[in-house]
Amino acid sequence: MESFKNKTVLITGGSRGIGKAIALAFANAGANVIINYVNSQAKALAVVKLAIKLGGNAKAIQANIADFTEAKKLVDEALETFSQIDILINNSGITKDNLMLRMKEEDFDQVIDVNLKGTWNMCKHLTRNFLKNKSGTIINISSVVGLIGNAGQTNYVASKAGIIGLTKSLAKEFGSRNIRVNAIAPGFIETEMTDQIPKDVRENYLKQIPLNRPGNPEEVANLCLFLASDKATYITGQVISINGGMV
Ligand code: NAP
Repeated sequence: MESFKNKTVLITGGSRGIGKAIALAFANAGANVIINYVNSQAKALAVVKLAIKLGGNAKAIQANIADFTEAKKLVDEALETFSQIDILINNSGITKDNLMLRMKEEDFDQVIDVNLKGTWNMCKHLTRNFLKNKSGTIINISSVVGLIGNAGQTNYVASKAGIIGLTKSLAKEFGSRNIRVNAIAPGFIETEMTDQIPKDVRENYLKQIPLNRPGNPEEVANLCLFLASDKATYITGQVISINGGMV
């Protein structure tokens, strides 16, 4: 496994689920990790403890990434702690599912604010530092539904498809400055987010997966390690699917 010693990774939503697995995978590879969270302080501090046990340096920072000013404070505090950030993983995300006729305007706005605007906020605040360093890698967590659409998730799907557009545009804007930007589109990954899915819908998803099981957060984390590594230096502007063959 490639070492990420002396590299710093900022992970939004690192307190649980996929973000937690990503934080621990990078800590295990020797990286300094910044674990952002919005509400789950105890869980974020537990991830910090585990990361340090694995050999990385780690710090938890609370911030609502949907808020432009809080996102800036998160980046500033991370830079004060580790002086440089090499890898940004925009992982935070929420769902507020409903059919179009029942979806409230605030459910649309909140999901777009956290998932899409939050990702943009983080890129906006951190790319200045990447430009100064003449290097940097961004990985944005999109979703399989951002590629194919999904009934009952117009807000979430629009946010995840938006992340793909943002990723491709940033890759073009910053490619000449040695900054790579890619997206990952996970399928059905077992976390607290998918725990909310009703049993019948879950069974229907599973039927569509050739590998016949949900993915686990560590499998997504492994893909992040690869995309952030020196083995992926010619990959930018791409959306990498990880979905057990679902699409
Ligand atoms: P999860 O278990 O629900 O965790 C969500 C994370 O996002 C938590 O750490 C949460 O922090 C953080 N978060 C939420 N709102 C935030 C905000 N305003 N500011 C900062 N952080 C915020 O979700 P997950 O399943 O691990 O999903 C992680 C990412 O993968 C999401 O972007 C999701 O859309 C995407 N994804 C997931 C799946 C899947 O099947 N699980 C599939 C495709 C894509 P707190 O703990 O503090 O609330």
